[in-house]
Amino acid sequence: MVPCYIGLGSNLGRSQELLESAMAALAAVDGIESVRCSPLYRSRPQGPSDQPDYLNAVAELVTTLKPHGLLKELQAIESAHGRVRDGQIWGPRTLDLDLLLYGDHVIDTPDLVVPHPRMADRDFVLRPLLDLAPGVVIPGRGSVGALLAGASSHIRTGIEH
Ligand code: AMP
Repeated sequence: MVPCYIGLGSNLGRSQELLESAMAALAAVDGIESVRCSPLYRSRPQGPSDQPDYLNAVAELVTTLKPHGLLKELQAIESAHGRVRDGQIWGPRTLDLDLLLYGDHVIDTPDLVVPHPRMADRDFVLRPLLDLAPGVVIPGRGSVGALLAGASSHIRTGIEH
């Protein structure tokens, strides 16, 4: 079993329901267990500002799946929640799932890069990750707490759920 962290984001549709449904979908995958969800955070969008705020969260889980198998499951859950890949980078999206950390593995392949390359400077990833796992270290980058101090500021407010 490998401990993993998944970043979740949504800024279209009923975002809170979508994130909660995505968490349930993760927990239902064969080979995934012990799913825990961080608090949700409302954040201003990255990139074009003429789009709604995001809701973001992080999920912790353990898995027997290999990294690319886990990525396939994440993409299937995105598709099942109405995600259309239209090629627009940082455009609005119903559901975005990123594989942030796969144990302490470092992976660099054409379709999967872990640790997720942009996680270390995003407060809307680091803050919920810190909530779940205060001691976690991002391979090659350092402790989440230290990185959060220097991260860009997107979070507007936290939401209990
Ligand atoms: P996005 O549109 O931001 O969801 O990016 C999706 C693309 O990023 C897919 O083609 C994935 O193969 C690729 N990708 C690379 N590394 C990761 C990762 N750690 N988590 C999720 N997608 C990734």
